[in-house]
Amino acid sequence: MSDAEKTTNFIHSMIDKDLEDGVYKEVYTRFPPEPNGYLHIGHAKSICLNFTTAAKYGGHVNLRYDDTNPVKEDVEYVDSIEEDVKWLGFQWDKRLWASDYFDTMYEAAVELIKKGKAFVCDLSGEEIKEYRGTLTEPGKESPYRNRSVEENLQLFEEMKAGKYKDGEKVLRAKIDMASPNINLRDPIIYRIAHTPHHNTGDKWCIYPMYDFAHPIEDAIEGITHSICTLEFEDHRPLYDWVLREVGFWPNPPRQIEFARLNLTGTVMSKRYLKAMVDDGTVEGWDDPRMPTIAGIRRRGYTPEAVRNFCEMIGVAKSNSTIEYSVLEGCVRDDLKEKVESRNVVFDPIKVVITNYPETQSELCTIENNAQVPEMGTRQVPFSRELYVDGADFMEVPVKKYFRLFPGNEVRFKGAYFITCNEVVKNEDGSIRELRCTYDPETKSGSGFEGRKVKGTIHFVDAKTAVPIRIRKYNYLLNEDGTPNPNTMERIDALAEPSVLEAEPGERFQFFRHGYYVADSKLFTKDTPVFNEIVGLKSSWKK
Ligand code: ATP
Ligand code: MG
Repeated sequence: MSDAEKTTNFIHSMIDKDLEDGVYKEVYTRFPPEPNGYLHIGHAKSICLNFTTAAKYGGHVNLRYDDTNPVKEDVEYVDSIEEDVKWLGFQWDKRLWASDYFDTMYEAAVELIKKGKAFVCDLSGEEIKEYRGTLTEPGKESPYRNRSVEENLQLFEEMKAGKYKDGEKVLRAKIDMASPNINLRDPIIYRIAHTPHHNTGDKWCIYPMYDFAHPIEDAIEGITHSICTLEFEDHRPLYDWVLREVGFWPNPPRQIEFARLNLTGTVMSKRYLKAMVDDGTVEGWDDPRMPTIAGIRRRGYTPEAVRNFCEMIGVAKSNSTIEYSVLEGCVRDDLKEKVESRNVVFDPIKVVITNYPETQSELCTIENNAQVPEMGTRQVPFSRELYVDGADFMEVPVKKYFRLFPGNEVRFKGAYFITCNEVVKNEDGSIRELRCTYDPETKSGSGFEGRKVKGTIHFVDAKTAVPIRIRKYNYLLNEDGTPNPNTMERIDALAEPSVLEAEPGERFQFFRHGYYVADSKLFTKDTPVFNEIVGLKSSWKK
C-alpha cells in the first residue's frame, strides 16, 4: 500500500459508511475534464483524489471528457490531458466522451416530459432570469409551465429537428419556483445551439446543460462517488433530482464536494491561463511560469512532488488558499536526494592561484550528492585560473562572513585551502581578478588536519568552464493579486563542463543556488538553457 492509500479524509469516511451500509459494493470514480484548455495544479488535486481514492478501495477510475458543450474543442487539449494524467503516474480504466451519451440524455429528457416533470418554455433568457426571483424572493412560474405532455413532447421533438432558432425555446425541469435553492427553480436542462459538435457533427442542435448531463454521465458509467468542487454543493439537490426522476438507474451515484485548490501567486482558471497564452504574457501553455501541469513539468517539478503536495494539503470542506511555498517545499524535499550537484557560478569573479604552475592542471573529486553517497562522485578540473561565485566574495566582509575576502582562507570544494591576497581592479573600479595562493598540503581527501577553515566555496576551472543560460522565475501574481510584470530573469553563468552532457529534462542542484532543469525545449549543447526549478530556501516573504 502506498502512503496515499493509507491516508483518510472525510470523503473516505463517507465511502467507508456507504460500503458498510451496502449502498455500493465497490468504488468507481471519474475525472471529468472539459477539453477546453490544459490541466493545472487544481486539476492535479482532483486527479490525485479520484485516483488514490479508487486505488485505496481497489476500485476504478474513468477519464471522461465532459464535452457536452459544442464549443470548439482541440485535439491538442485532449492529448495534453492524457499526457498530464499519465505523467502524474495514473492510468484510467476507460476513456470516455460524455457526448457519446447524447441519445440516452435525450431519452431521459423525454422521460421527464412524459412524467410531467419537464416542459418547453418560450421565455427569453432575459425573462427567465427575471422570473427566477432572488435569494430572498421566490420566483414566478413560467406561463408555459402547464403545457400538456403531448404538446411538450411535440415541441421538444421540433427543437431537436431544428425548427427553432438558438434561444427561441428551452426545455426546463418542472421542480419548484419557490424553492430556497435557486438551482431548483425550474432549471434549464436543454438548450438550442445550431453549432456542430466535434464528435456528433450536425446530428444535434439541442444540447444538455451541465446539471442535467453530469449526473446522467456518472450514472451511465456506474460511478459510485462523483467527486467535485464545492461550488456544486448547491447543485447536489438537482443532481439527485435528475437521477431520481429519470429513474433509469436503480443505484445512482452520490455527489461529494470538496474545496478547490487555490494557490497564492498564481491563477487557477483555464480561462485566465488561456488569455495569458493568447496575449503573449507567457510563451505557451507549457511555459515554466504557468501553473499548468505541462508548465510545472517543464519547470522541472516531479510528479512525486506534486502527488506528495496533494496528499499533504489534504481534502478540505471549505475554501482556502495554500501558500505557493508549500508546493515548492514538496519539490525541494523530493529533489534533495534524487539529483546530482553541479558547480555553477553566477556573477563570476576570476581567481588566479599565483603559486599554482601555469602549465599544470588536475582533477578534483566531488560527491554527486553529499546526502546520498551511493550516488558516487565525479571529477572537476582545477588549474591556475578559476571562477568563483559573485556571492562567495566580499571585499569588505560583513560580520560572520566566512567565504572569500582579502586575507581569508577558505576551502575550494573538493580542492585546496585558498587564501585571497589581493584584489585587482579594472579602471572603472570593478574587480578584474582575485590573486590568491593555495596550500598544496590541503587537498580534499588527503587527510590534512593541520588547521581548519570556516568556509567552503565552489568554483569552476576557467579554461574548461562553459557558459550556460539560466531562466529564473517569479510568481505570476504579486501578493496583492495584481499581475507581476517581472516574471522571468535571465542569468548568464559559468558551469563545469559536465553540464553539457545533460539530457533535456534532466535535473540538478547547482551549489548554493537551488535546483535546475535542462529545459526540455530549449536546451542544446550549443545553447545550454536551464530553468530554475526552485531555490534552496523558501523565497516567500511574509
Ligand atoms: P477551470 O475553472 O480552470 O476551467 P473547471 O472546473 O472548469 O476549471 P474542468 O475541466 O471542468 O475545469 O474540471 C475537471 C475537474 O477538475 C472537475 O471535477 C473540477 O471540479 C476539478 N477542478 C478544477 N479546478 C480545480 C481546483 N482548483 N481544485 C480542485 N479541483 C479542481
Ligand atoms: Mg468546467
